[in-house]
Amino acid sequence: MSKDLADSISDLRKRLNIVANGFEETLKQQPPNQEVNGKANLPTRQKIAEMSAEVSDSNPYSRLMALKRMGIVQDYGRIREKTVMVVGVGGVGSVVAEMLTRCGVGKLILFDYDKVEMANMNRLFYQPHQSGLSKVEASKETLLHINPDVEIEVHNMNITTVENFNILLDRIRHGSLKNEKVDLVLSCVDNFEARMTINTACNEENQIWMESGVSENAVSGHIQYIEPGRNACFACLPPLVVASNIDEKTLKKDGVCAASLPTTMAVVAGFLVQNTLKYLLEFGEVSHYLGYNALVDFFPKQQILPNPTCDDRYCRQRQQEYKEKKSREVPKEEAKKEEETIKHEDNEWGIELVDESVVEEKSQPSLDGIKFAYEVPQTSHTEQEDQPIQKSTQDLSKLMQQLKNL
Ligand SMILES: [Zn+2]
Repeated sequence: MSKDLADSISDLRKRLNIVANGFEETLKQQPPNQEVNGKANLPTRQKIAEMSAEVSDSNPYSRLMALKRMGIVQDYGRIREKTVMVVGVGGVGSVVAEMLTRCGVGKLILFDYDKVEMANMNRLFYQPHQSGLSKVEASKETLLHINPDVEIEVHNMNITTVENFNILLDRIRHGSLKNEKVDLVLSCVDNFEARMTINTACNEENQIWMESGVSENAVSGHIQYIEPGRNACFACLPPLVVASNIDEKTLKKDGVCAASLPTTMAVVAGFLVQNTLKYLLEFGEVSHYLGYNALVDFFPKQQILPNPTCDDRYCRQRQQEYKEKKSREVPKEEAKKEEETIKHEDNEWGIELVDESVVEEKSQPSLDGIKFAYEVPQTSHTEQEDQPIQKSTQDLSKLMQQLKNL
């Protein structure tokens, strides 16, 4: 080898080393939250053994635990014992799953068989780099990143096949943290066939569930609480497409897709999770049917009773059981009604008019450590207080005498 060639190789080596070192330095200087090849390399948080009410910037539960201090929820920490099944993690279900994760629910069981697509990006939750992943796997990754305290079980499957329906039944029956029945099933699916499947499963398992839906024109939606036997199930009042045995797949035209707005979906998801929290943690009033018409901002609310001739035999059986249960509970129900009447007086907003004279008559508030902001003047007449009145009477008679003398 000539000297010239050896020098050239040595020079090239040096240059290559400089370039390699520079590349390493660039990698080191990258901030930890920068995405590499579209995959997030983000800081994570450790699991937290117990929910604490401690007020600190690093406690993700302090604002939720404050609900107790505000007198809204008696024991917020109980949410960690709860298991919620979410069937369908599309535009509504993914947001529902995220809200429940942020609220610190104990366990989530997710069912879906769809993949994330770029066409989903007008909605919330999923991100472009997740395109092509199954929705349940993409959800699990994001949700565990947000809150690793939540246990996430996922099933990438279509629940409407016979085999998968049995898996759905089994997970309702044994899916909880204690391998018992789940606390609630949330239906966030976009077709009647899947809704009817969830309905059949919940009637059979006597499982309380909540239905949700957003219209194809994206400007209305609803949520519905269904307690088998107490409320109308999905088969009690079937939509025309189900009642007429029409295959809904034949209704969809090629190239025509339903509209969707992230706003309407978020409103419905918010309603659904709010109702879920009220039901799970026993506060406020659980809505049985709550509608949303975005064009005029109309929110109809009602209760739909079950149909005694419902096609679903389990629904009819649950109705019978509910009637028997109610007939045994009559005195308790009456007592509750009486209590409610006092609480809400006679207006539908539950606003109470406080008679100030009644408040003034109270000498001491009943709660320890609480006192009135101002002292109410004494109204009872003591002997001492009567004296000035007598005096003034005397003064008046003197004045009358003076007047007469004039
Ligand atoms: Zn029914």
